[in-house]
Amino acid sequence: MEIAPETLDERVSRFVEGLKGAGVKLTPQRLEIFREVAKSADHPDVETVFRGVRKRLPSVSLDTVYRTLWSLIDLGLLSTVGHSRERVRFDANMGSHHHFVCEACGVMWDFQSDEFDRVRVPDVVRKLGSAQKTQVEIRGICTRCSGETTSRRCASRRKEDRWKRRS
Ligand SMILES: [Zn+2]
Ligand SMILES: [Zn+2]
Repeated sequence: MEIAPETLDERVSRFVEGLKGAGVKLTPQRLEIFREVAKSADHPDVETVFRGVRKRLPSVSLDTVYRTLWSLIDLGLLSTVGHSRERVRFDANMGSHHHFVCEACGVMWDFQSDEFDRVRVPDVVRKLGSAQKTQVEIRGICTRCSGETTSRRCASRRKEDRWKRRS
């Protein structure tokens, strides 16, 4: 699923400004790779970004996409979600937001919540490190999957909320 066009425009202009600010040239390749992440509402992984970009830039390599994504992370223009570098997913939503993850299909949606933004970091976290941002991940079964079968509807009752801190 894709995000609203005006949100994409906002993300792209923030990206263009960010590159300019960092003194990095805006190439068609960088723009296409960023757009592929920015237009998606579902945090694509590197293979998904590559497949999308290749439709418009057939000469692009997986390695280039990979290196470009990580350089955009170093510039603070993208962030990652998830834990493993193998199946890392990219997020162009740099504003404060939280995630809903479907345990059945793996889809990951962004959502806003003032309540979650205001959450106080528990004291126990200080023993682990210094918190830079708080992001809540709610795991459950998405409406698309829960509409499919009865057994999956049951699974949605087992949904768990999990606090997740990212640096
Ligand atoms: Zn689902
Ligand atoms: Zn996100």
